[in-house]
Amino acid sequence: MWALSLAIALVAVQGQAIELGCPDEAGLRGVEARWEGHRVPFVRRGAAWVAVVGVDLDAKPGAHAAELTFRYDDGHTRTASETVTVQRQQFPTTKLTVEDRYVELSDEDAARASDEARETGAIYATLTPERYWDEPFLAPIRGAKDGRNFGHRRVFNGQPRAPHSGADLKADVGTPVYAANRGRVVLAKDLFYSGNAVFVDHGLGLYTIYLHLSKIEVAPGAIVERGQRLGLAGATGRVTGPHLHWGVRIVDARVDPFSLLRLKPAPPLGVEPRRP
Ligand SMILES: [Zn+2]
Repeated sequence: MWALSLAIALVAVQGQAIELGCPDEAGLRGVEARWEGHRVPFVRRGAAWVAVVGVDLDAKPGAHAAELTFRYDDGHTRTASETVTVQRQQFPTTKLTVEDRYVELSDEDAARASDEARETGAIYATLTPERYWDEPFLAPIRGAKDGRNFGHRRVFNGQPRAPHSGADLKADVGTPVYAANRGRVVLAKDLFYSGNAVFVDHGLGLYTIYLHLSKIEVAPGAIVERGQRLGLAGATGRVTGPHLHWGVRIVDARVDPFSLLRLKPAPPLGVEPRRP
C-alpha cells in the first residue's frame, strides 16, 4: 500500500513573495519550478533547495499550478506539480494631484517614457542565473517597519493609471537609502516618471528598485553589499512630495517589498511518495 502523500495547503495573497523549498536528495543536481509561464530556478541552501516566488498583485485569484522539475547527476529527471491557491487582496483607489506634464505628456516626454518602459521591462525579463544574496532582506530606510500605498489603484489628475507597484516609505530629502540586500546595480539614472532611480539585480529574477532619489551614489555594474548606501531620498519624477518608493520584482511579478522581509521557510514540496 502507498503512504498517503502529505497534502500541503500552499496559500499566497496577491502581491506577496513566498518561499518554496524541497529537501535535498542524493544525486540531485538542480530543481526548477514553472510559475505563471516563467522559469524559477532553486538554489541549494544546507539540506534544502529553495526559491523565492512572486505572486503578482494582479494574479488571478484561485488555484495555480507550480510545476517542479528535479534533475539528477545520472541524467534522469522527475516532475511534480504543486497547487498554490492565490487569495484576493483588496487594494483601495487613491486620487493624486501631480504636475500636469506627468499626466498630459508632450510628444518628447511620451517617447522618452516609452523608451524607458522598454528598458526597464528588459531588465525585469532578465534572469541572472546566480543568486547574489544569502542573508535576509532589509528595509532600505533605517527603522522603516512598513510602507504605504502598495497595490493601490491610482488616478492622477482625474485619469486612471497603472497600479502602484511598490511601497512608499516616509523619508525627507537627504535621508540615506540602503541596499536591501547584496546584488549588482543594473540601472542608476534619471527616468521620466521615477526620477533618479537605482535598480539592483539580486539574481534569479529578483530586483529591488529605489525611486525619486535626490542623489545617486552608485554606478551600473557595481556589486553592492546588503545595507550599503545607494543614494539619498528625494522628490524627483512624478511625486506629490519627498519619499522613497521601494519596489520589488520577482520574475516579473510585482510584490509588496515588505513581504520579502517576512518570508517564512516553506513547507517541503515535491517529496516523492515512499512505500511504508
Ligand atoms: Zn511610489
